[in-house]
Amino acid sequence: MNKQLCQSCGMPMLEENMFGKNADGSKNEDYCCYCYPNGAFSKDETMEEMIETCIPFMIEGGTCKDKESARAMLMSILPNLKRWKNK
Ligand SMILES: [Zn+2]
Repeated sequence: MNKQLCQSCGMPMLEENMFGKNADGSKNEDYCCYCYPNGAFSKDETMEEMIETCIPFMIEGGTCKDKESARAMLMSILPNLKRWKNK
C-alpha cells in the first residue's frame, strides 16, 4: 500500500480513520481528519502557521528531536503539498 500524506500538514495517513471527510460524510483521499474533518479545512491558515502548529506534534511523536529539525523537515515537505503548491 502506498503511504499517503495529508496534502495539508504532511502527516502520513496510515489508517482509514485518519482520512478527512467530505461534507456528505464520504472519505476525503487528500487530507487528514485533523485538517479536513467535515468538508472544509478545520482552520484557515497560512503554510507558516501550519508549520508552527505541526512542530510540537513532530517532536512529541518522536519524528524530530528539536524545533529546528522539525521546521526544516516541514519546510521540505509542505511546499510540495496540494494545499500550498499554488500559493
Ligand atoms: Zn492534515
